[in-house]
Amino acid sequence: MTHLESQDPLVYQTIAHEVERQNFGLELIASENFVSKSVLQAQGSIFTNKYAEGLPGRRYYGGCEFADTVEELARQRARDLFQCDWVNVQPHSGASANAAVYLSCLKPGDSFLGLDLAHGGHLTHGSPVNFSGIWFNANYYGVDTDGRINMDQVREKAIKVKPKLISIGASSYSRDFDYQAFRSIADEVGSLLWMDMAHPAGLIAAKVLNDPLPYAHIVTTTTHKTLRGPRGGMILIGRDFENPFGKVAPKSGRVRKMSELLDSAVFPGMQGGPLVHVIAAKAVAFNEALQPEFVNYALQVQKNSAIMARSFMDQGYDVVSGGTDNHLVLLDLRNKNITGKDAEIALQSAHITVNKNMIPFEERSPFVTSGIRLGTAALTTRGFKETDIQDVVHLIDRVILAPSDESVRNQVKKDIHALCETYPLYDFVLA
Ligand SMILES: *Cc1c(COP(=O)(O)O)cnc(C)c1O
Repeated sequence: MTHLESQDPLVYQTIAHEVERQNFGLELIASENFVSKSVLQAQGSIFTNKYAEGLPGRRYYGGCEFADTVEELARQRARDLFQCDWVNVQPHSGASANAAVYLSCLKPGDSFLGLDLAHGGHLTHGSPVNFSGIWFNANYYGVDTDGRINMDQVREKAIKVKPKLISIGASSYSRDFDYQAFRSIADEVGSLLWMDMAHPAGLIAAKVLNDPLPYAHIVTTTTHKTLRGPRGGMILIGRDFENPFGKVAPKSGRVRKMSELLDSAVFPGMQGGPLVHVIAAKAVAFNEALQPEFVNYALQVQKNSAIMARSFMDQGYDVVSGGTDNHLVLLDLRNKNITGKDAEIALQSAHITVNKNMIPFEERSPFVTSGIRLGTAALTTRGFKETDIQDVVHLIDRVILAPSDESVRNQVKKDIHALCETYPLYDFVLA
């Protein structure tokens, strides 16, 4: 980055500081990961200059021959990775992929059913402050006191609400989903089934978790969480089907496929030009995820989160649902006399990055909360194994037991620096 350094030292300096922060902090935010050098290079490429509205072979601009090739690569690799009929790799983010689903399936005021935000759901699944809750009639199912989704409750709610769309997926739910049970409920009430696999996509690609594609009509994801690609979104369909809304193609008059509705919801419905540089980086990341090593990565992520949950429980912590199936662990800190907010602040000052998180049946505000959410996807990318994760749990425990003790904090920071030096991350970025 010598050019940037001399041309714009202020921006260069912030990047240099961020490199330092990522290299020498413990990254435990469950939605984050570290991309490869190849992903960074593709995303930093001159494809950022290109306008390519439309789809490969059907663009509104000239000069798209290489944009077409790279988007086709991304699409083919995504189809191979998830063994599905159709994919759209253009959504700029998980939220815009989800917006395209709403635009395709619902009209303002229509009812849908999703997981309660306070029980692990996402803002785009009907939060009152998100378009999904503002424009549509959002209804929720939740988890039981054991922290798991109760399928009988989902069915009861679905029969009562008669939603046009049922969503699965969460941002702080540590258990796998029973897609077959969801599908039979959707079929019973005549609803479409949509899985938002933003968090576990990488583990699903590696087949270490249940596969939603045979059961959900539509699947959305981010590409930057466990899938370890650039920041972005994607929509997939396992087996394409005639859209149930009877929408016809303008010229032929035939009923359009669901994939066609989603394609036009992304563009021109939701977005303008696609981010071709990000699509190039998605292609690179999908290829990485197709390699056999990625399965080892996913298995290690799972092993690491399992040992994390067990170690916390051994230290007397309450882990929501009593464990984890995926990459994340949700801690209920009420018996530790600290709020999620204060835990987040104390851990941050010791260079441990986590986020405060609501726990099921939360009594505190979303700005305070009683829990923290931890994920192992990023540390596993660095090379952390089970014994390292046990060390990490002890470091977290020391901070949480003495949140304002400066000597504890300084010792923890030193230990973390040493751990991070064992697993170097980005030595190349500033080269
Ligand atoms: C992260 C996440 C999203 C949103 O992704 P962005 O890229 O931040 O817009 C959507 N749904 C779920 C379940 C998520 O966890």
